[in-house]
Amino acid sequence: MLPEFDLLRPNTLPEALAMLAEHAPDVMPLAGGTNVIVELRDSHKSPKMLMDVGKLRELCGIRRDDGHIIIGGGTTIAELLTHPLIVDHGLPLQQAAARLGNPLVRNRATVAGNLVNASPAADTAPPLMALGAEVELTSQAGSRRVPLDEFIVGVNKTCIQPDELVTAIRWPGPPARSAAGFYKIGLRKADACSVINAAAMVIWDESGRCRQARIVIGAAAPKPVRAHEAEAALQGQPLTDDVIAEAAHLAAQATQPIDDIRGTAAYRQRIAEVIVRRLLTQIVIAQGGSARCQ
Ligand SMILES: Cc1cc2nc3c(=O)[nH]c(=O)nc-3n(C[C@H](O)[C@H](O)[C@H](O)COP(=O)(O)OP(=O)(O)OC[C@H]3O[C@@H](n4cnc5c(N)ncnc54)[C@H](O)[C@@H]3O)c2cc1C
Repeated sequence: MLPEFDLLRPNTLPEALAMLAEHAPDVMPLAGGTNVIVELRDSHKSPKMLMDVGKLRELCGIRRDDGHIIIGGGTTIAELLTHPLIVDHGLPLQQAAARLGNPLVRNRATVAGNLVNASPAADTAPPLMALGAEVELTSQAGSRRVPLDEFIVGVNKTCIQPDELVTAIRWPGPPARSAAGFYKIGLRKADACSVINAAAMVIWDESGRCRQARIVIGAAAPKPVRAHEAEAALQGQPLTDDVIAEAAHLAAQATQPIDDIRGTAAYRQRIAEVIVRRLLTQIVIAQGGSARCQ
């Protein structure tokens, strides 16, 4: 049974922000509802009011502006699967979308919902962090941008204020000589939460060495982990099997996994090393394998 609540249905973003300003913190945004409704049913949350943000056109759309890819907070996971800007400039996000839930969930679930819910296993967070994404938060007072790494602060915790909405997520269009990808291990091949997931982006220099890398591992700590030591181990190097193996080992050391029903901490740490190695190898192959042969 669902608890009782009032449902607010704004038609425009200004209306929605006014409602939040008036009723926060007693009102909770409702997008696809694939987290919210489950939590209401399980009595984990009982807000006095839900505010349906599904009608807000201002939260929709995927576009390119000033060298950045910008997706509205209300973008559904299904929309990420085929949009040319995502396929061309956000491949790890597209790959993550393809592994998130099932078609029914993907048709309703939104990117903002996935990020604000801030599950350690959220599938869109590592790819967006690897791409260098920022979250745009808007209230009646105006908008601010927060790097995704700082937006998520812990298990189901973000820095969003009760009167703010996630209006957009944006990242710089990937630079030349770069490639990126996403890898997920679940208990099943489809419709399964991540036991562990990872995303990475590599930028090569003109000589074929790694100029910069971002490696992010999910479901391995209270929030997605940036593997800074592993990234440093790749910098300036040709991405040979040995260099990749060392970086994967360092990446796994950056995790702080827990035992839970989906896997033990020891398994997660071991498998983190395996998937980072596979992911980096796939990225090198996607780039044409040339860096590997230098
Ligand atoms: C069967 C099933 C399978 C699933 N599988 C996966 C999976 O494989 N991987 C995965 O990562 N997740 C999975 N999920 C979780 C869920 O589908 C995602 O987290 C989804 O992206 C949440 O989006 P939503 O639009 O449904 O959010 P909602 O449930 O509507 O909202 C989630 C949270 O975000 C807030 N919110 C929503 N929109 C905004 C906004 N614009 N601004 C501010 N706050 C906002 C809400 O107030 C709430 O706190 C699964 C869920 C189900 C039911």
